Amino acid sequence: MKFADLHLHTYFSDGTFSPEELVGHGRRLGFAALALTDHDSVEGCARMAAACDAAGTVFIPGTELTAEHNDTEIHLLGYFVDTENQKLLSKIAKFQAVRQNRIHEMVARLNGLKVPLQVEAVFALANCKSPGRPHVARALVKAGLCKSLDEAFERFLKKNRPAWVPKAKMSALEAVELIHQAGGLAVMAHPGLNRTDDVIPVLVEAGLDGIECFHTKHSTVTSEHYLEMADQYHLLITGGSDCHGFSKGKPLIGTVKLPYEHVETLHAAWNARRAPVASPSPLPAGGDRTGTR
Ligand code: AMP
Ligand code: FE
Ligand code: FE
Ligand code: ZN
Repeated sequence: MKFADLHLHTYFSDGTFSPEELVGHGRRLGFAALALTDHDSVEGCARMAAACDAAGTVFIPGTELTAEHNDTEIHLLGYFVDTENQKLLSKIAKFQAVRQNRIHEMVARLNGLKVPLQVEAVFALANCKSPGRPHVARALVKAGLCKSLDEAFERFLKKNRPAWVPKAKMSALEAVELIHQAGGLAVMAHPGLNRTDDVIPVLVEAGLDGIECFHTKHSTVTSEHYLEMADQYHLLITGGSDCHGFSKGKPLIGTVKLPYEHVETLHAAWNARRAPVASPSPLPAGGDRTGTR
């Protein structure tokens, strides 16, 4: 049986692994295919493609866009996006700037609470264009200002806690359109995390291609529920661990094993989308570099 993990983060957003380390773990665990889905970033895709190529692992370039619908946060995975698409890159740059400004605001709030965290310490640790709350949490622990990441979120960073700052997001419909115009397939991430089932028909209407049925935080019952929804709305089925390396405790890669047939279906759907009449491109073992068509 061949398996895939289609939801992974590196240190180009809030993970702790490099693309090369992630591919090394994927290879050790026997994964046939991996996708990189850093938050509001595609920066790690070129290195991950090269590392997958060297390891003989199929690679799918991707991203995880932070979006919202009616004040509910929705994460949209974009698979097979062209990582050089100018509209995608300029939107991503805008939301990366939002993320960076938000770090300054969160640290200012912490300082207002007499928590002496330095903003430079957060940026030194984040060292990426797409920083987020996990970096602030890790900086708090590293500076000895919190005992654990959990404590940092519970005391300061969770929604409506004193150092939490809301984040401007694109609309979920805009995110689907952005992924499509970059040549990708739009997939709703971890729908079971905030139970946003009523948004699914709205996104389907906007052209949603798939739904992440398998995720570390989905129980068997939850996965089955979303498999039924995928069937009902004719959506592609994806899954992944949402591994962040050590930034949320232990690395999760290996906890979700998506049967490889779903990778083939995803790839076939992408081929059909981009060139309905031309001959399809194969999904090569050894890295799919087609993200830079
Ligand atoms: P941000 O994009 O900056 O809002 O941060 C979101 C990230 O923080 C996601 O990767 C979440 O999984 C993570 N996160 C949110 N709440 C918590 C929590 N209570 N404990 C640990 N991580 C969290
Ligand atoms: Fe994250
Ligand atoms: Fe997510
Ligand atoms: Zn994720």
